[in-house]
Amino acid sequence: MKAAVLERVGGPMRIEEIPEPTPRAGEVLVKVAACGVCHSDLHVLKGELSFQLPAVLGHEISGTVAAVAPDVTNVRPGDRVVGSFIMPCGHCPHCVRGRDDLCETFFALNRLKGVLYDGETRLLRTDGSPLAMYSMSGLAEYAVTPATAVFPLPDVLDIHESCILGCAVPTAYGAVRHQAGLLPGESVAVIGAGGVGSNIIQIAHIFGASEVIAIDIVDEKLEAARRLGATQVVNASVDDPAAMVRALTGGRGADVVFEALGRAETVLAAFNAVRDGGRVVVVGLAPGTEAVPIEITRLVRRSITLKGSYGGRMRADVPELVRLVQGGQISTAQLITRRYGLDEVNEAYGALSQGKITGRAIIQIA
Ligand SMILES: [Zn+2]
Ligand SMILES: [Zn+2]
Repeated sequence: MKAAVLERVGGPMRIEEIPEPTPRAGEVLVKVAACGVCHSDLHVLKGELSFQLPAVLGHEISGTVAAVAPDVTNVRPGDRVVGSFIMPCGHCPHCVRGRDDLCETFFALNRLKGVLYDGETRLLRTDGSPLAMYSMSGLAEYAVTPATAVFPLPDVLDIHESCILGCAVPTAYGAVRHQAGLLPGESVAVIGAGGVGSNIIQIAHIFGASEVIAIDIVDEKLEAARRLGATQVVNASVDDPAAMVRALTGGRGADVVFEALGRAETVLAAFNAVRDGGRVVVVGLAPGTEAVPIEITRLVRRSITLKGSYGGRMRADVPELVRLVQGGQISTAQLITRRYGLDEVNEAYGALSQGKITGRAIIQIA
Protein backbone atom coordinates (compact mmCIF):
# COMPACT_ATOMS: atom_id res chain seq x y z
CA MET A 1 0.00 0.00 0.00
CA LYS A 2 0.98 3.64 -0.29
CA ALA A 3 1.83 5.56 2.89
CA ALA A 4 3.17 9.08 3.56
CA VAL A 5 6.38 8.50 5.53
CA LEU A 6 7.97 11.26 7.61
CA GLU A 7 11.68 10.44 7.85
CA ARG A 8 12.91 13.51 9.73
CA VAL A 9 11.69 16.71 11.37
CA GLY A 10 10.90 19.34 8.76
CA GLY A 11 9.89 16.73 6.19
CA PRO A 12 8.93 16.42 3.45
CA MET A 13 6.75 13.32 3.78
CA ARG A 14 7.45 10.82 1.01
CA ILE A 15 4.93 8.45 -0.48
CA GLU A 16 6.37 4.94 -0.05
CA GLU A 17 5.10 1.52 -0.99
CA ILE A 18 4.98 -0.55 2.24
CA PRO A 19 3.30 -3.87 3.17
CA GLU A 20 -0.41 -3.66 4.08
CA PRO A 21 -0.70 -4.03 7.88
CA THR A 22 -2.53 -6.90 9.60
CA PRO A 23 -4.86 -6.37 12.57
CA ARG A 24 -4.12 -8.35 15.74
CA ALA A 25 -6.49 -9.28 18.61
CA GLY A 26 -9.04 -6.55 19.28
CA GLU A 27 -8.11 -4.59 16.15
CA VAL A 28 -9.64 -3.51 12.86
CA LEU A 29 -8.12 -2.87 9.42
CA VAL A 30 -9.67 0.19 7.75
CA LYS A 31 -9.38 1.01 4.05
CA VAL A 32 -8.92 4.76 4.47
CA ALA A 33 -11.26 7.02 2.46
CA ALA A 34 -10.08 10.33 3.91
CA CYS A 35 -7.79 11.72 6.58
CA GLY A 36 -8.10 15.23 8.04
CA VAL A 37 -5.21 17.72 7.99
CA CYS A 38 -4.70 18.66 11.64
CA HIS A 39 -2.34 20.96 13.54
CA SER A 40 -1.15 18.11 15.80
CA ASP A 41 0.47 16.40 12.80
CA LEU A 42 1.99 19.75 11.86
CA HIS A 43 3.51 20.10 15.35
CA VAL A 44 5.21 16.72 14.88
CA LEU A 45 6.28 17.60 11.35
CA LYS A 46 7.93 20.80 12.61
CA GLY A 47 9.47 19.10 15.64
CA GLU A 48 7.38 21.21 18.06
CA LEU A 49 5.97 18.05 19.61
CA SER A 50 8.50 15.25 19.85
CA PHE A 51 7.55 11.92 18.31
CA GLN A 52 9.38 8.77 17.23
CA LEU A 53 10.57 8.91 13.58
CA PRO A 54 10.36 7.63 10.90
CA ALA A 55 6.60 7.63 11.25
CA VAL A 56 3.32 7.73 9.37
CA LEU A 57 1.18 10.63 10.64
CA GLY A 58 -2.54 11.28 10.14
CA HIS A 59 -5.04 10.64 12.91
CA GLU A 60 -8.52 11.66 11.73
CA ILE A 61 -9.86 8.99 9.39
CA SER A 62 -12.97 7.64 7.77
CA GLY A 63 -13.19 4.58 5.58
CA THR A 64 -14.47 1.07 5.16
CA VAL A 65 -13.65 -1.87 7.41
CA ALA A 66 -11.46 -4.24 5.36
CA ALA A 67 -10.83 -6.91 8.02
CA VAL A 68 -11.35 -7.52 11.75
CA ALA A 69 -9.66 -9.77 14.29
CA PRO A 70 -11.85 -12.78 15.29
CA ASP A 71 -12.69 -11.23 18.71
CA VAL A 72 -14.03 -7.94 17.29
CA THR A 73 -17.82 -7.59 17.56
CA ASN A 74 -18.67 -3.88 17.15
CA VAL A 75 -17.96 -3.64 13.40
CA ARG A 76 -17.79 -6.01 10.43
CA PRO A 77 -15.96 -5.97 7.09
CA GLY A 78 -17.74 -3.62 4.71
CA ASP A 79 -18.97 -1.27 7.45
CA ARG A 80 -18.36 2.44 6.85
CA VAL A 81 -16.62 3.89 9.90
CA VAL A 82 -14.92 6.90 11.44
CA GLY A 83 -11.74 6.32 13.47
CA SER A 84 -11.03 8.49 16.53
CA PHE A 85 -7.54 9.85 17.16
CA ILE A 86 -7.67 8.90 20.84
CA MET A 87 -7.78 5.13 20.73
CA PRO A 88 -9.12 4.23 24.20
CA CYS A 89 -7.68 1.00 25.61
CA GLY A 90 -10.97 0.44 27.44
CA HIS A 91 -9.49 -0.91 30.68
CA CYS A 92 -7.12 1.63 32.29
CA PRO A 93 -8.57 3.47 35.35
CA HIS A 94 -9.53 6.50 33.18
CA CYS A 95 -11.20 4.46 30.44
CA VAL A 96 -13.18 2.55 33.08
CA ARG A 97 -14.60 5.90 34.29
CA GLY A 98 -15.41 6.90 30.69
CA ARG A 99 -12.54 9.41 30.53
CA ASP A 100 -11.16 8.19 27.18
CA ASP A 101 -9.48 11.61 26.85
CA LEU A 102 -7.09 10.60 29.64
CA CYS A 103 -6.39 6.98 28.52
CA GLU A 104 -3.04 6.02 30.07
CA THR A 105 -2.32 3.28 27.58
CA PHE A 106 -2.85 5.60 24.60
CA PHE A 107 -0.41 8.17 26.00
CA ALA A 108 2.21 5.71 27.22
CA LEU A 109 2.31 3.47 24.14
CA ASN A 110 0.98 5.40 21.18
CA ARG A 111 1.89 9.03 21.88
CA LEU A 112 5.21 8.28 23.59
CA LYS A 113 6.37 5.22 21.60
CA GLY A 114 4.37 5.19 18.35
CA VAL A 115 3.07 1.65 18.84
CA LEU A 116 -0.22 -0.15 19.51
CA TYR A 117 -1.12 -1.82 22.78
CA ASP A 118 1.00 -4.98 22.55
CA GLY A 119 4.01 -2.66 22.33
CA GLU A 120 4.59 -3.09 18.58
CA THR A 121 3.88 -1.08 15.46
CA ARG A 122 1.80 -2.62 12.66
CA LEU A 123 3.76 -0.71 10.01
CA LEU A 124 7.01 -2.03 8.57
CA ARG A 125 9.00 -1.02 5.53
CA THR A 126 9.72 -3.63 2.87
CA ASP A 127 13.16 -4.14 4.50
CA GLY A 128 11.40 -4.99 7.80
CA SER A 129 12.36 -1.79 9.63
CA PRO A 130 9.59 -0.30 11.81
CA LEU A 131 7.60 2.88 11.19
CA ALA A 132 6.09 4.61 14.22
CA MET A 133 2.31 5.07 14.29
CA TYR A 134 0.83 8.46 15.19
CA SER A 135 -2.61 7.27 16.36
CA MET A 136 -3.60 4.80 13.59
CA SER A 137 -1.33 6.40 10.92
CA GLY A 138 -4.13 7.59 8.69
CA LEU A 139 -2.00 9.03 5.87
CA ALA A 140 -1.95 5.65 4.15
CA GLU A 141 -4.26 3.47 2.09
CA TYR A 142 -4.90 1.13 5.04
CA ALA A 143 -4.78 1.68 8.81
CA VAL A 144 -4.95 -0.66 11.80
CA THR A 145 -6.71 0.65 14.90
CA PRO A 146 -8.10 -0.84 18.11
CA ALA A 147 -11.81 -1.68 17.66
CA THR A 148 -12.57 0.67 20.60
CA ALA A 149 -11.69 3.58 18.27
CA VAL A 150 -13.96 2.85 15.28
CA PHE A 151 -17.60 3.89 15.06
CA PRO A 152 -20.14 3.00 12.35
CA LEU A 153 -21.35 5.73 9.99
CA PRO A 154 -24.91 5.67 8.64
CA ASP A 155 -25.20 5.54 4.82
CA VAL A 156 -26.49 9.12 4.60
CA LEU A 157 -23.24 10.57 5.95
CA ASP A 158 -20.57 11.48 3.39
CA ILE A 159 -17.69 9.03 3.75
CA HIS A 160 -14.96 11.63 3.12
CA GLU A 161 -16.36 14.54 5.12
CA SER A 162 -17.01 12.28 8.12
CA CYS A 163 -13.29 11.91 8.86
CA ILE A 164 -13.43 15.13 10.90
CA LEU A 165 -15.64 13.29 13.40
CA GLY A 166 -12.40 11.59 14.46
CA CYS A 167 -10.57 14.66 15.83
CA ALA A 168 -11.72 18.23 15.06
CA VAL A 169 -15.39 17.74 15.95
CA PRO A 170 -15.02 15.61 19.12
CA THR A 171 -12.20 17.91 20.32
CA ALA A 172 -14.61 20.85 20.05
CA TYR A 173 -17.51 18.91 21.55
CA GLY A 174 -15.35 17.71 24.47
CA ALA A 175 -14.32 21.29 25.23
CA VAL A 176 -17.86 22.73 25.00
CA ARG A 177 -19.82 19.93 26.64
CA HIS A 178 -17.49 18.31 29.14
CA GLN A 179 -14.81 20.83 30.10
CA ALA A 180 -16.80 24.07 29.82
CA GLY A 181 -20.15 22.54 30.72
CA LEU A 182 -21.73 25.25 28.55
CA LEU A 183 -25.31 26.15 29.49
CA PRO A 184 -27.96 27.68 27.20
CA GLY A 185 -27.91 31.47 27.36
CA GLU A 186 -24.24 31.79 28.28
CA SER A 187 -21.91 34.03 26.30
CA VAL A 188 -18.91 32.51 24.56
CA ALA A 189 -15.74 33.82 22.93
CA VAL A 190 -13.55 31.61 20.74
CA ILE A 191 -9.95 32.61 20.03
CA GLY A 192 -8.75 30.95 16.81
CA ALA A 193 -11.32 30.11 14.12
CA GLY A 194 -9.39 27.22 12.54
CA GLY A 195 -10.32 23.53 12.34
CA VAL A 196 -11.17 23.09 16.03
CA GLY A 197 -12.23 26.71 16.69
CA SER A 198 -14.79 26.61 13.84
CA ASN A 199 -16.31 23.52 15.38
CA ILE A 200 -16.43 25.11 18.84
CA ILE A 201 -18.34 28.04 17.29
CA GLN A 202 -20.82 25.69 15.63
CA ILE A 203 -21.31 23.52 18.73
CA ALA A 204 -21.59 26.50 21.14
CA HIS A 205 -24.29 27.86 18.81
CA ILE A 206 -26.30 24.59 18.84
CA PHE A 207 -25.89 24.38 22.64
CA GLY A 208 -27.78 27.69 22.85
CA ALA A 209 -25.05 30.22 23.62
CA SER A 210 -26.52 33.74 23.66
CA GLU A 211 -23.42 35.29 22.09
CA VAL A 212 -20.63 33.56 20.18
CA ILE A 213 -17.75 35.96 19.57
CA ALA A 214 -15.22 34.62 17.05
CA ILE A 215 -11.67 35.98 17.16
CA ASP A 216 -9.04 35.45 14.46
CA ILE A 217 -6.63 37.48 12.36
CA VAL A 218 -7.95 36.35 8.96
CA ASP A 219 -11.16 38.02 7.73
CA GLU A 220 -12.04 35.05 5.53
CA LYS A 221 -12.05 32.78 8.62
CA LEU A 222 -14.21 35.28 10.50
CA GLU A 223 -16.73 35.37 7.64
CA ALA A 224 -16.86 31.56 7.69
CA ALA A 225 -17.34 31.76 11.49
CA ARG A 226 -20.44 33.91 10.99
CA ARG A 227 -21.95 31.24 8.76
CA LEU A 228 -21.35 28.68 11.54
CA GLY A 229 -23.19 30.73 14.17
CA ALA A 230 -20.80 33.45 15.38
CA THR A 231 -22.86 36.49 16.42
CA GLN A 232 -19.87 38.88 16.52
CA VAL A 233 -16.39 38.72 15.03
CA VAL A 234 -13.17 40.39 16.13
CA ASN A 235 -10.08 40.73 13.96
CA ALA A 236 -7.27 40.53 16.54
CA SER A 237 -4.76 42.09 14.14
CA VAL A 238 -6.87 45.27 14.31
CA ASP A 239 -8.50 45.25 17.76
CA ASP A 240 -7.40 44.02 21.20
CA PRO A 241 -9.40 40.79 21.62
CA ALA A 242 -9.92 40.95 25.42
CA ALA A 243 -11.03 44.61 25.29
CA MET A 244 -13.42 43.85 22.41
CA VAL A 245 -14.95 40.83 24.20
CA ARG A 246 -15.54 43.01 27.28
CA ALA A 247 -17.07 45.76 25.15
CA LEU A 248 -19.39 43.23 23.49
CA THR A 249 -20.53 41.74 26.83
CA GLY A 250 -21.55 44.86 28.72
CA GLY A 251 -18.06 45.30 30.15
CA ARG A 252 -18.12 42.02 32.09
CA GLY A 253 -16.36 39.55 29.80
CA ALA A 254 -17.67 36.28 28.36
CA ASP A 255 -18.99 33.44 30.52
CA VAL A 256 -16.70 31.01 28.70
CA VAL A 257 -13.63 31.74 26.58
CA PHE A 258 -12.11 28.97 24.44
CA GLU A 259 -8.50 29.23 23.28
CA ALA A 260 -7.92 27.10 20.18
CA LEU A 261 -4.40 28.16 19.17
CA GLY A 262 -2.02 27.04 21.93
CA ARG A 263 -0.07 30.29 22.25
CA ALA A 264 0.91 32.15 25.41
CA GLU A 265 -0.42 35.50 24.20
CA THR A 266 -3.82 34.09 23.27
CA VAL A 267 -4.17 32.10 26.51
CA LEU A 268 -3.53 35.39 28.32
CA ALA A 269 -6.06 37.16 26.10
CA ALA A 270 -8.60 34.44 26.98
CA PHE A 271 -7.88 34.92 30.69
CA ASN A 272 -8.39 38.68 30.31
CA ALA A 273 -11.58 38.26 28.24
CA VAL A 274 -13.46 36.03 30.71
CA ARG A 275 -15.92 37.41 33.27
CA ASP A 276 -15.45 37.10 37.02
CA GLY A 277 -16.36 33.54 37.95
CA GLY A 278 -16.09 32.46 34.30
CA ARG A 279 -14.29 29.55 32.62
CA VAL A 280 -11.30 29.58 30.31
CA VAL A 281 -10.91 26.35 28.33
CA VAL A 282 -7.60 25.86 26.52
CA VAL A 283 -7.77 23.48 23.56
CA GLY A 284 -4.73 24.42 21.44
CA LEU A 285 -1.53 22.41 21.89
CA ALA A 286 1.60 24.55 22.23
CA PRO A 287 5.11 23.89 20.96
CA GLY A 288 7.29 22.05 23.49
CA THR A 289 6.96 23.29 27.07
CA GLU A 290 5.76 26.83 26.28
CA ALA A 291 4.32 28.40 29.46
CA VAL A 292 2.08 31.34 30.29
CA PRO A 293 2.26 33.82 33.20
CA ILE A 294 -1.23 33.99 34.73
CA GLU A 295 -2.07 36.78 37.19
CA ILE A 296 -2.54 34.81 40.41
CA THR A 297 -4.54 37.42 42.32
CA ARG A 298 -7.17 37.79 39.59
CA LEU A 299 -7.38 33.99 39.28
CA VAL A 300 -8.04 33.73 43.02
CA ARG A 301 -10.13 36.81 43.82
CA ARG A 302 -12.30 36.65 40.73
CA SER A 303 -12.69 32.87 40.94
CA ILE A 304 -11.62 32.12 37.37
CA THR A 305 -11.66 28.49 36.24
CA LEU A 306 -8.79 27.58 33.91
CA LYS A 307 -9.12 24.17 32.27
CA GLY A 308 -7.34 22.15 29.63
CA SER A 309 -9.32 20.04 27.20
CA TYR A 310 -7.85 17.28 25.06
CA GLY A 311 -10.06 15.48 22.57
CA GLY A 312 -13.27 13.94 23.80
CA ARG A 313 -14.71 10.90 25.54
CA MET A 314 -14.64 9.08 22.25
CA ARG A 315 -16.77 6.00 22.94
CA ALA A 316 -19.65 8.19 24.16
CA ASP A 317 -19.09 11.34 22.11
CA VAL A 318 -18.42 10.08 18.58
CA PRO A 319 -21.72 8.12 18.29
CA GLU A 320 -23.52 11.20 19.70
CA LEU A 321 -21.81 13.43 17.11
CA VAL A 322 -22.74 11.02 14.31
CA ARG A 323 -26.39 11.46 15.43
CA LEU A 324 -26.01 15.26 15.48
CA VAL A 325 -24.63 15.28 11.93
CA GLN A 326 -27.38 12.90 10.80
CA GLY A 327 -29.99 15.16 12.41
CA GLY A 328 -28.59 18.21 10.63
CA GLN A 329 -27.53 20.07 13.80
CA ILE A 330 -23.85 19.83 12.88
CA SER A 331 -22.60 20.33 9.31
CA THR A 332 -19.41 18.63 8.22
CA ALA A 333 -19.78 19.88 4.62
CA GLN A 334 -19.56 23.53 5.69
CA LEU A 335 -16.31 22.94 7.57
CA ILE A 336 -14.36 21.24 4.78
CA THR A 337 -12.96 23.78 2.38
CA ARG A 338 -10.11 21.97 0.61
CA ARG A 339 -9.45 18.45 -0.61
CA TYR A 340 -6.07 17.04 -1.57
CA GLY A 341 -4.81 13.68 -2.86
CA LEU A 342 -2.30 11.57 -0.89
CA ASP A 343 0.45 12.68 -3.29
CA GLU A 344 -0.33 16.32 -2.36
CA VAL A 345 0.17 15.76 1.37
CA ASN A 346 3.07 18.22 1.67
CA GLU A 347 1.08 20.95 -0.10
CA ALA A 348 -1.79 20.37 2.33
CA TYR A 349 0.35 20.70 5.47
CA GLY A 350 2.21 23.63 3.90
CA ALA A 351 -1.08 25.50 3.39
CA LEU A 352 -2.10 24.69 6.99
CA SER A 353 1.25 25.97 8.26
CA GLN A 354 0.77 29.24 6.38
CA GLY A 355 -2.69 29.78 7.92
CA LYS A 356 -4.33 29.37 4.51
CA ILE A 357 -6.87 26.73 5.49
CA THR A 358 -10.32 27.98 6.48
CA GLY A 359 -12.12 25.29 8.49
CA ARG A 360 -10.57 21.93 7.63
CA ALA A 361 -8.67 20.44 4.70
CA ILE A 362 -8.85 16.71 4.10
CA ILE A 363 -6.72 14.24 2.20
CA GLN A 364 -8.89 12.00 0.02
CA ILE A 365 -7.21 8.64 -0.29
CA ALA A 366 -9.91 6.43 -1.81
ZN1 LIG B 1 -6.17 16.33 15.29
ZN1 LIG C 1 -7.37 3.53 28.65
